[in-house]
Amino acid sequence: MQLVILGGGKGSRLKAVTGDLPKPLVPVLGTPLLGRQIHQAAQSGYVDEVVVLTGYGADSIAAYVKEADFGIPVRCIAEPVARGTAGAVLAAIDNLQSEFLVMYADTVHDIDLGRFVSFHSAQGADASLFLHPNDHPADSDLVETDEAGRITCFHSYPHPEGVIFPNLVNAALYVLRRDALLGLSNLPEKPDFAKHVFPAMLQAGRRLVGYRSPEYIKDAGTPDRLAKVAKDILSGMVSHRSLRNPSPAVFLDRDGVLNVYAGYVDTPEKLVLLPGAGQAVRKLNRSFFRTVVVTNQPVLARGEVSPDMLRLIHARLDTELGREGAYLDALYFCPHHPDKGFPGEVASLKKVCDCRKPEAGMLMHASRELGIALERSWMIGDTTSDIEMARRAGLRSILVKTGLGGRDGKYDAPPDFVADDIAAAIEIIFQEAPDLANRDAACASSCVGEM
Ligand SMILES: [Zn+2]
Repeated sequence: MQLVILGGGKGSRLKAVTGDLPKPLVPVLGTPLLGRQIHQAAQSGYVDEVVVLTGYGADSIAAYVKEADFGIPVRCIAEPVARGTAGAVLAAIDNLQSEFLVMYADTVHDIDLGRFVSFHSAQGADASLFLHPNDHPADSDLVETDEAGRITCFHSYPHPEGVIFPNLVNAALYVLRRDALLGLSNLPEKPDFAKHVFPAMLQAGRRLVGYRSPEYIKDAGTPDRLAKVAKDILSGMVSHRSLRNPSPAVFLDRDGVLNVYAGYVDTPEKLVLLPGAGQAVRKLNRSFFRTVVVTNQPVLARGEVSPDMLRLIHARLDTELGREGAYLDALYFCPHHPDKGFPGEVASLKKVCDCRKPEAGMLMHASRELGIALERSWMIGDTTSDIEMARRAGLRSILVKTGLGGRDGKYDAPPDFVADDIAAAIEIIFQEAPDLANRDAACASSCVGEM
């Protein structure tokens, strides 16, 4: 597949550190941003040609590309007039293949591109957008998808007060089908993908899908961010979060661990975070563990909560965590329930499954999807089902005293540890696995003198 890199940026916000250097050539730890991206693309084995769309500093970028040896063909196309990010792609459309990847030259990431491209192909989409949760969703452009992952709408920052949205941020990395970009109406002179092109595609009935991933991707467009991404590369966090590399996770139960146990949560308002839970998850996000919720939601099978309502409830969870700078890498739920006889029940979900805790199906699913190393992972729960599931899958477990505090008494499953709450549980995990605990500390010891 062809990779299109948008390299027209001037990098004015980086002037203080890099002078007049065009943004794609700004070095991070000695390698220009653009060079890093092309190397990664070449290594992925999925990219057979790179097209760099240039504007400011076109000659020096062309000279850099000519001199470097990336092992795959790289072409630069200079646009005489700045036309906006999507405008540059539309202007170069005759040089583009029927499907291509698009990324911005100022982003730093280590994304499994092959996985993303395969997803796009399997979906038969007109556009696939790389979406991820971040620690500041309230001031980010958010995307909403339906149950099947099809994008339904875009919410641009700023968001109205009091609304709840899932923490799904458009990271500006796309796979696009060329023909789907043709003939879009009402585009401004300098169109932007997120603001103009994608909404126009939705309106034209095109199929846009969201690709959810917990992988690292950040723009390095300001001196602060440039320093931050350098630190994250050095600490190992950028590669650690890649789906190419197996990574341990801390699995969390929902009710009674993250939020107040209040019988069944059947409206968003009933989901209230436990004191300290947001900050605990934030700490976990800053470690080398992935953060994954696994929850039984038999309310779906019993017809007490609709799939749409459950999405809203989880949007509220995302919003409440986001307020504290915390996020979930993923959330898995089991919608099934084995016993029949409830009024309004959903017959298709009334069954014995392999995902309802204490069965370990959700852990296995997460392990496959997110490349999780289960043998290094942990489960934090408030019921014996949580602990029994961890035992069956070979995870270490911590029972918290919040929520049911193990008083459900269904299984004779002794946990590895008992903790007062999720914050105390995470401290135990960090003590037991100090090398995975804190990537800032990991950096502090290895980054001295290298910034
Ligand atoms: Zn299930």
